[in-house]
Amino acid sequence: MKIQWTNLRRQHLGLQEELKSVFGQTMNDGTFVLGPRLQQFEAEIAQYVGCKHGIGVKTGTDALFLSLKGLDIGPGDEVITTPFTFVSTVEVVALLGAKPVLCDIDPDTFNIDVDAIEDEISEKTKVIMPVHLYGQPAEMTRLMDIANKRDLIVVEDAAQALGAEYKGKKAGSWGRTSCVSFYPTKNLSCLGDGGMIITDDDQLTEVLRKLRIHGSSEQYRYVSLGYANRLDELQAAFLSIKLKHLDEWNERRRVLAGRYDEALREYVTIPPIDPHSQHVYHQYTIRTNQQGPLRSFLREQGIPSGVYYPLPLHLHPAYSYLGYKEGDFPKAETASKEVLSLPIDPHLLDDEHEWVVQNVVKFFRMESTRLRG
Ligand SMILES: *Cc1c(COP(=O)(O)O)cnc(C)c1O
Repeated sequence: MKIQWTNLRRQHLGLQEELKSVFGQTMNDGTFVLGPRLQQFEAEIAQYVGCKHGIGVKTGTDALFLSLKGLDIGPGDEVITTPFTFVSTVEVVALLGAKPVLCDIDPDTFNIDVDAIEDEISEKTKVIMPVHLYGQPAEMTRLMDIANKRDLIVVEDAAQALGAEYKGKKAGSWGRTSCVSFYPTKNLSCLGDGGMIITDDDQLTEVLRKLRIHGSSEQYRYVSLGYANRLDELQAAFLSIKLKHLDEWNERRRVLAGRYDEALREYVTIPPIDPHSQHVYHQYTIRTNQQGPLRSFLREQGIPSGVYYPLPLHLHPAYSYLGYKEGDFPKAETASKEVLSLPIDPHLLDDEHEWVVQNVVKFFRMESTRLRG
C-alpha cells in the first residue's frame, strides 16, 4: 500500500464544487488583490482565534517578518526563541538585523523551555517568540507572566497550531501578534502560499496594513517604506471554504494520534502531552533510538515519515555567526536524533493508518528478534 504524506487531493475532492465556484466568481468579478474576499477571511480567522484583526500576507514567514518589522525590531534588538523550529522563526530575526537568542527546549513538548528564558533576557531583549511545535502550544501562561513582568513583547509562531488551545484559550491569541501559515502541508492550507498575522492591537494593525502595501496610507501616498505582501483574493476565498472544516480535520488528527499512542506505546517513546494543551497534531511525533533504520524500513513499505528537524538551527552554517556550538542546546540536539513523525493527515483512511501501525510494530518485532538471535 502506498501512503501519501498529505492527501490534499482527497480534501479537495470533497470541496471541489465550492472551490470551483469561488474560482469562477473571482475570475469574473476581477478583484484579485485586497478585496472583499480577503476582508471576509481576515474577519473569520480573527474570530476563530478570538482576536480582533487578521492581516493577510503572502506566507507564514512574511507574517513573522512583518510582525517584527511592524514592532520596529531591528539592529541592536534581541529576540528570544528556540533552535528546534522551522528556519523561518530564526531567519526573519536575522534578516531584520536583530539578534536571535536561543533557548533549549522542554524535552516532553519540544517547545521552548520556559524555565530557560529568564537567563537569556538582557537589556536588549525586545521579543519572546514561542513556536507551538507540531501543533502543541508552548506553556503560554508562564511565558506571558515572564514577558509581562519584564515588559517584553510576545510574537507567537502559530504556523503549526491553528485550532490548538492552551488552558482553553486558542494558540495565536496570547501574544501581541501571532503568525499563521497556509502552506499546503499545514492544518489549514490554501492552493499555494499564504499567511496571516493575527492581533488585537488596533494601532499595530494599521501599521501592518500599510506595510503590506508599500507603506501607503491611501493610494499613491507613502508614509513609510513598505513591501508588496498580501494574501490573494482567490486564496482567501479558498481558505474561507476550508476554515469551516478545520475543527473536524483537527479532531480526526487527534483520533489518529490516539490510536498511534495505544498501538505503539510498547515499542517507542510517546512524548507526554501537556495536560493543559489541546493538541492539533500538525505532526504526530515519536521518539526512538532507531530513527534512521525505522525510517528506511517504512520507506521500503511505501510509508513516508519525517524528521522535524534533523539539525537544530544553531548548528547550520547560516547561523554559525551567532557563535553557538554543538552541546549548547543538548535537549534540542538529542531530539533531532530521536524524533520521527508518522503520517497523520486527516484524510488518511482507517486501513491506511492501520497499515502504518502494523509496519512500525513489525519493524520493532524484527528488531527484537535480531537482537535476541
Ligand atoms: C511553515 C512554518 C513557517 C513558515 O510558513 P511559510 O508559509 O512556509 O512561510 C514558520 N514557522 C513554522 C514553525 C512553520 O512550521
